[in-house]
Amino acid sequence: MKPWMPVRERNDVEDLLIANVRLPSGAGTKLGIHGVHLVEPDALVHPRVIDADGLMALPGLVDLHTHLREPSPHPAETIASGTSAAARGGFTAVFAMANTDPVTDTAEAVRHIRQLASGQSAEVIPVGAITRGLNGTELSDITGMHTEGVTHFSDDGRCVMDAGLMRRALVQVSAFSGVVAQHCQDHNLAGTQACVPESADETFWPWSAEATIVARDVQLALDTKAHIHICHISTAESVDVVRWAKARGIPVTAEVTPHHLLLGSDLLHGGDTRFKVNPPLRSNEDRQAVRQALADGTIDVVGTDHAPHLPSDKDKPFPDAKPGMVGLEWALGVVIETMVTTGLLDWAGVADRMSEAPARIGQISTRQGRPLTPGEPATLVLIDPTRRAVVDKNTAVTLGRNNPYDGMNLPDPVLATFWDGRLTYDGGLIRAS
Ligand SMILES: [Zn+2]
Repeated sequence: MKPWMPVRERNDVEDLLIANVRLPSGAGTKLGIHGVHLVEPDALVHPRVIDADGLMALPGLVDLHTHLREPSPHPAETIASGTSAAARGGFTAVFAMANTDPVTDTAEAVRHIRQLASGQSAEVIPVGAITRGLNGTELSDITGMHTEGVTHFSDDGRCVMDAGLMRRALVQVSAFSGVVAQHCQDHNLAGTQACVPESADETFWPWSAEATIVARDVQLALDTKAHIHICHISTAESVDVVRWAKARGIPVTAEVTPHHLLLGSDLLHGGDTRFKVNPPLRSNEDRQAVRQALADGTIDVVGTDHAPHLPSDKDKPFPDAKPGMVGLEWALGVVIETMVTTGLLDWAGVADRMSEAPARIGQISTRQGRPLTPGEPATLVLIDPTRRAVVDKNTAVTLGRNNPYDGMNLPDPVLATFWDGRLTYDGGLIRAS
């Protein structure tokens, strides 16, 4: 496998025929790529043929929860490096969380993100802040940002604690059928030092700090008929609340991170700050509960919560280190390891939870999470479901070295990523052919 290289040019000079490839349904097929579209393979004249025997094509992955860290005076990631990491992980669209510096809380800030994202390796969808500067006390210019096309709003990194403010945000966003995504953490139950699921001091992050906000916000969603999205759900009790709310017909969706699917609180005993994340890694019972909920659809999507940090922000005593870990490049591998090889989810389920459902929730399903049929965008990822590798944080594409998977042997399936016919990642498959 050749080392990764950024590929910027469109390959519309050359038609591609991807032969002998499997679809998530299990059906074998061939895919034709001409310009930005998938086309009838037989209509191609002298295409270059890629033999994809043993490989599978998934629709390009969509991440509702990415921290790209730009703009920032000291960026731990850039939009260029973050979207390159996304492409390496099979993603063709990422939702850029608003907790940058400055915060994405105005129409102008949204336009700035779009400018920075132009020509990069994945579609970047700006998420708008719910409150001004994430201050939790006054609403941001939600209407102005919506004028710029923003439908997804979140103060992620912080919880909107004021229920009255949250209700007003839901009312405003429901006027254009948008989505409010909540970081569920009652800051009175889990404060700024909270980071572990079991403790007798201020580092205690109890499960109830999450479940109580989930319970409050699904009631507010029922009250306002607004779509609430629960970010990074981590406990069995929160899953129970979402299951109850869905049974009542409340417009709620939920996500789980790769790290909460794979990693447990046992890793916290050594004090390694790579494993510090918000909400914290939890018990084996919680891990089984979120896996089961992702399998049965109670949890709708996998969201990476890719959160790169500078080494200086992680090289600190555990309670002082910043929470968060990288994830874009290993998300699909972790889902294969925890959901597919365990028999909990089939490939159609993977395509749904990592592409189709996030594209629907993020309201970009006219162009992402599409079926792989002629006439559709050539937006897809070619994978070898059996390939594995030992994770090396130093050869990763992300600039973040806060990598919880470093040294682990995990599925490493992604061979090539196409976004609108453009080859945004090539692990050697396409150029070597
Ligand atoms: Zn969060």
